Amino acid sequence: MPEDAIEEYPLVTDDDIDPTFVQRVSATPGGEHLLDCYACGTCSASCPVRAIDDEFNPRRIIRMALLGLKDEVLQSDFIWFCTGCYICQERCPQDVRITELMMAFRNVATQEGYPHPTVAIIADTVAKHGIIMEIGEFENEKRVKAGLPPRNVPEDVHRGILESTGLTETLKKAKPRPTKDADGGDA
Ligand code: SF4
Ligand code: SF4
Repeated sequence: MPEDAIEEYPLVTDDDIDPTFVQRVSATPGGEHLLDCYACGTCSASCPVRAIDDEFNPRRIIRMALLGLKDEVLQSDFIWFCTGCYICQERCPQDVRITELMMAFRNVATQEGYPHPTVAIIADTVAKHGIIMEIGEFENEKRVKAGLPPRNVPEDVHRGILESTGLTETLKKAKPRPTKDADGGDA
């Protein structure tokens, strides 16, 4: 094997494997069907994100999870690339429910201190406006024209609701993310 190939696909050691990871994901809502994957590759072949970025590979992410490569999965940007289009989920012959599985990976990653930086930005917008978009004069004028009252809920109400979910505290404990993503590769 050429040396550059070894560098691209580093060897996995016992230290990289967490044997409890499969159970952890399987016990998370959305992850219940992880063990049913038989690696056919239909998900990767169907995925529109993979069509424009061949580094994104749902089958490979699932294989890594099944091998117990917890850090590699949870610190990966790829689990955040899924657009939630459900194409893979509709085509998977094993009903792995990949779209929901990706959400399970994201939730476990966030609990373990590896939320994607966009989560903090979205949480801040929700805290300020109550939804994931800014509500300003323009939006309120359109609401009034449509016969709706302008949205003007005080920020502390939204922040209080967000804090009650535990997300604010979880985001405070976020760990530094690795600068280089290690996964990708062939389907
Ligand atoms: S389509 Fe389903 S069974 Fe096939 S690799 Fe993807 S998740 Fe696994
Ligand atoms: S739901 Fe996500 S992983 Fe599945 S095809 Fe769509 S973008 Fe790809």
